[in-house]
Amino acid sequence: MTMKAILLDRDDTLNEDPGYLNDPQKVVLKPGALQGLQKLKQAGYEFFVMTNQSGVARGLISEQQLVSVNERISLLLSHGGLKIRKFYVCPHGEPITCECRKPRPGLFLQFFREFKANPDACYAIGDKLRDIEAAESSGVKGILLANRETVQSTMAPKNLVHTARDLQDAADYILATERG
Ligand SMILES: [Zn+2]
Repeated sequence: MTMKAILLDRDDTLNEDPGYLNDPQKVVLKPGALQGLQKLKQAGYEFFVMTNQSGVARGLISEQQLVSVNERISLLLSHGGLKIRKFYVCPHGEPITCECRKPRPGLFLQFFREFKANPDACYAIGDKLRDIEAAESSGVKGILLANRETVQSTMAPKNLVHTARDLQDAADYILATERG
């Protein structure tokens, strides 16, 4: 059976974003995150995180802090019976010289190299257009959590299929689409 996967942005999608989050004690999940992911889990989806962490390159987040924050996110999700299969991280900064900083597609390409998943059965979810754009060349549909960035149709990536308030709203859309 092919894997169904939700490829999640991290900061301001899964958890609140205080900016260069480097303290695990400051991790707070976003409203609707647990509920939304629980619905998707029941429908057979697995979860992955795709995150830009330029704070590492800037010296604002140490490698150990990055790991500790991700572990804290995993712990909070585990209280709701949820698991992130893998965190894909771009630790690089600007100017962009790597292939993995979103909107570049590297994190998504790495995911598809490592896991057998059908792009048609995957969704990229994030609060920025670059989270969606990074998934476009992999053929993954995108859902934008539009709390900050206004989508203008002229600049929207072609794979953007929906704009949602939060992860619960995004989950409702995905499940409604599955039912047809
Ligand atoms: Zn990178």
